[in-house]
Amino acid sequence: MDKLIVRIFLDHKIDHKIAAYTFTEIFRYIDTKFEFITNQNNADIIYGVNDEFILKSKIYLKADMKFWENYKKQNSLPQSPLKKINDIVYPYDQDIIASTFFLLSGYEEYLNLKRDKYQRFLFEFSLYKNDRIYTEPMVEKYRDYMITLLNQIGILCVRKNIWSDKEYALFLSHDVDGIYKYRSSIKSLAKIFLKPSKFSFIEFLKSKYNQTNDPYFLGFDYLIEESKKYGFKSTFFFISKIREKLDNFYNITDQVIVDIMKKIKFNKFEVGLHATIASYKNSLFLKEEKDLFNFNIDGVRQHYLMNNICETAQYQNKLFQYDSTLGFVDMIGFRRGTCLPFQVYDLDQEAILELYEIPLNAMDVTLKQYMRISEDTSYKLLQKMISEIKKYNGIFSFLWHPGNCSDEWSTWLSKVYEPTLKELHQNNVKSLTGIEIIKKIQLS
Ligand SMILES: [Zn+2]
Repeated sequence: MDKLIVRIFLDHKIDHKIAAYTFTEIFRYIDTKFEFITNQNNADIIYGVNDEFILKSKIYLKADMKFWENYKKQNSLPQSPLKKINDIVYPYDQDIIASTFFLLSGYEEYLNLKRDKYQRFLFEFSLYKNDRIYTEPMVEKYRDYMITLLNQIGILCVRKNIWSDKEYALFLSHDVDGIYKYRSSIKSLAKIFLKPSKFSFIEFLKSKYNQTNDPYFLGFDYLIEESKKYGFKSTFFFISKIREKLDNFYNITDQVIVDIMKKIKFNKFEVGLHATIASYKNSLFLKEEKDLFNFNIDGVRQHYLMNNICETAQYQNKLFQYDSTLGFVDMIGFRRGTCLPFQVYDLDQEAILELYEIPLNAMDVTLKQYMRISEDTSYKLLQKMISEIKKYNGIFSFLWHPGNCSDEWSTWLSKVYEPTLKELHQNNVKSLTGIEIIKKIQLS
């Protein structure tokens, strides 16, 4: 028997485009369809603000007009501490629609203009860093609440699991920043002299004799072999153009890089673009960098996790199928409140983009250099995060740089990276490349 279609009526005070986007995203991972209707008497869900709706509808979702009436104005930002009911935190008073939109669209970043020296919005700058909305997948709790409400009125539905025989997925990725620890001979020798604990003359000689023996370069082989060991897929993001010093110093046409890419493709892994720093505000740069590859590129991650809420996604749209930049540099967690991909809403143009976001949960340097926590604590936090993601049939998006596989990271590999992968494998995860994830979503 066909499932019932959930009929939704929107109050005239609600912006239809934003509500349609939000309902579409919430229902993306619920196994029932919905439609908007114009006669409130036939509705299963009424979303609005008139208390008369309580009598007429089966589900009345009360809209918090603080959001809808003050849209994009400073006074639409909720006050911390946010309201919490049954372990669910709401930016807008029990309003799962406005709250979902707030998180998925990155609404706070649009109005809270604090940025670091690279123009990045950090977790530290958030007005809600004590409210758990970015450290727990709150959108998934709203989605579950919607499912509960539907079941209560006899519309039987469950959360969609798009991973077939597995409960959750792994998106393992590697940003190729620096690939040589010993690049310039003069600087290298100076470093060996000044920091003998970190740089060694023997390593230097090996690297100069053959660059593929450089400890950073060996990170490629290490990561590929670790993934292969468990039958996992890895996605490598490469920088294709050098625009400034921070973009680093290799060329995708270098023979060593060509050979690495061949190996990546041979293993059915994916190559994506690690877009230069300046490209986050420049659509021509993004296009040029994509076109420098002599094969098709589907996915992008901005170097330094650069993102401008009004520009970056708009420029990536139509060039790429997905972006995977949106995690906080300084905190592991859920920058868009979810552990599942979604289509990006462009707050600047008020447009629903074709671009998907696969949000980033955790990266190596966030744990070691920004959060400054130990290997043991990192491992425990990742375990906790993974079990939360598994509960919601989500994706654990984990970034480890090939340049962070050398000696100074050895305890991080043995105590964090390796046991996490092992644990994921034993815990029945489905590992996919970025584009494989997007195809799964489009087919579901
Ligand atoms: Zn990078």
